[in-house]
Amino acid sequence: MRDVVIIGSGCAGNTAAVYAARANLNPLVIEGLEAGGQLSLTTLVENFPGFPDGIMGPELVANIKKQAERFGAEYRPGEVTAADLSKRPFRLTVDNQEIVETRTLIIASGASARWLGLPSEQKLIGHGVSSCATCDGFFFRGRPVMVVGGGDSAMEEATFLTKFASEVTITHRRDRFRASKIMLDRARKNEKIKWLTNTVIDEVYDVSKNEVTGVKLHDVRDGRQWEQKIDGLFLAIGHVPNTKIFQGQLELDPDGYIVSKGGARTSVHGVFHAGDVQDRHYRQAVTAAGMGCMAAIEAERLLQAEGH
Ligand code: NAP
Repeated sequence: MRDVVIIGSGCAGNTAAVYAARANLNPLVIEGLEAGGQLSLTTLVENFPGFPDGIMGPELVANIKKQAERFGAEYRPGEVTAADLSKRPFRLTVDNQEIVETRTLIIASGASARWLGLPSEQKLIGHGVSSCATCDGFFFRGRPVMVVGGGDSAMEEATFLTKFASEVTITHRRDRFRASKIMLDRARKNEKIKWLTNTVIDEVYDVSKNEVTGVKLHDVRDGRQWEQKIDGLFLAIGHVPNTKIFQGQLELDPDGYIVSKGGARTSVHGVFHAGDVQDRHYRQAVTAAGMGCMAAIEAERLLQAEGH
């Protein structure tokens, strides 16, 4: 029987582990399929406070893990494949076999960027393909980039990227946009932004060079194909919160994000949230870390009140 189990080992989960471990709760962190979370997909992080010269994303998240382990947090590779939150202790199934019981649970399973799913795109993640303009835009100073998507994220990322890039092409699969009028208008007024609607990407070049040099595209109306040279490809086609196993047990919003009940509390007593699994607005490493801290403090206070 555990006092605290943390699902997820990104910035939120690892920070929760630091706090829970320092409270002598010997937390167990179940790392998840994408161990290290989204930070492990980025390169230089320049906006995490305390690192005047920046720090590499994977190094930052590994450091927080090390810090948690120093105080007694235990890490276990693997995925939580099922959860029973109907009563306490909560029961988790890890990798379809092992059962873990816990008095409190911190869900920091994150949200995974949605990708197009092309093999060439997958191979070039971190080498010119990115899902985070805030993280990687800086590297494309004076170079042409492309943003895929037609929602607010695509407008926001494209507008942000014009600060660095020589030209930003927004590529969207339809000619109607999901983005709010204000965000769309702002992007439309920006002369650095070019538009390709009714257009889909077929391939990202050049896997053999391990860098992005261009894309092959086609027009969905007539199938016409062509190539465009770009140095960076940013996907902004949404995120998918990793909450599938909690459906029907925990209050989730229509897109699957955990609904917060104030602080780090969820609709189930003893279950807390941290990071992108609940936060669809800020999605920053520092906000995830802050929420991880809050979740651990709430778990500690609950256990203390219950006399554990
Ligand atoms: P979104 O609104 O769901 O938009 C995703 C876009 O990606 C859609 O245009 C969609 O195309 C496209 N898309 C999805 N799957 C695709 C695929 N496989 N291939 C090509 N295109 C694909 O997601 P979001 O832009 O990340 O926004 C999520 C939420 O956060 C929204 O509620 C948004 O308002 C909010 N948000 C707000 C702000 C802000 O206010 N500052 C900034 C960012 C996000 P279709 O339209 O054809 O489906």
